[in-house]
Amino acid sequence: MSRSRRRRIYEGKAKILFEGPEPGTLVQYFKDDATAFNNQKKGTITGKGVLNNRISEFLMERLAEIGIPTHFVRRLNMREQLVKEVEIIPVEVMIRNVAAGTLTKRFNIEEGTPLPRTIVEYAYKNDALGDPQVSEEHITAFGWATTQDLDDMVHLSLRINDFLQGLFRGVGLKLVDFKLEFGRLWENEEMKIVLADEISPDCCRLWDIKTNEKMDKDRFRRDLGKVEEAYQEVARRLGVLPEAGPVDIEGPKSMQ
Ligand code: 5GP
Repeated sequence: MSRSRRRRIYEGKAKILFEGPEPGTLVQYFKDDATAFNNQKKGTITGKGVLNNRISEFLMERLAEIGIPTHFVRRLNMREQLVKEVEIIPVEVMIRNVAAGTLTKRFNIEEGTPLPRTIVEYAYKNDALGDPQVSEEHITAFGWATTQDLDDMVHLSLRINDFLQGLFRGVGLKLVDFKLEFGRLWENEEMKIVLADEISPDCCRLWDIKTNEKMDKDRFRRDLGKVEEAYQEVARRLGVLPEAGPVDIEGPKSMQ
């Protein structure tokens, strides 16, 4: 089926969700589009969609192996993966190990300062409002998630952080901070919280352990150059760079 004939369920800044081949599934299509600062900065990172599809596939598979429930089913082609349809919880969970980004501005902490312990923050997922930071009180009072949902989300996020810190350390990268999204999945009348969205250099800060060089979307946000190269290098270190290498990075734009 051509892409144009599939029902488009949702289009976000970096991905499109299409109706899946069977009930309860969706096809997640990764675009090369990049945005920053609440959509004020827009651009294209050539090959990003292909690389994020691979990187997220790899990380979600490794997480599933340690028992983290995720929406990921399988990669379909260069830019698409099959995922389970979940009800997205409109709360972004931010995990921080080292000071960077908005944290440094809010508290005037120097970028790169190790944090005394891992810090968990939340944002309300709402583009029109610019994803404002919120507390557990807002989340539960406004009914975005229950206390139990939130407990599950934090517990999973901290396990994911422990595991990913080690995984990235193994390939010479420091996991500075990242953002996760979760969804509700119903199976046999039971609801469980599962990891959704993606894990990629779009939503993680990754620094080279030796040089502290930024290997993530901050290169785009801050016009540091070598943006494509950074995404490729992360994929290469994880062993998921498409076989033909950078020449094959753009990949087909339509479904095969
Ligand atoms: P900060 O609050 O410093 O901007 O972001 C903290 C971490 O969460 C960073 O790794 C950043 O990439 C990620 N993050 C926060 N909000 C978003 C968002 O709306 N989209 C994406 N892709 N990542 C986000």
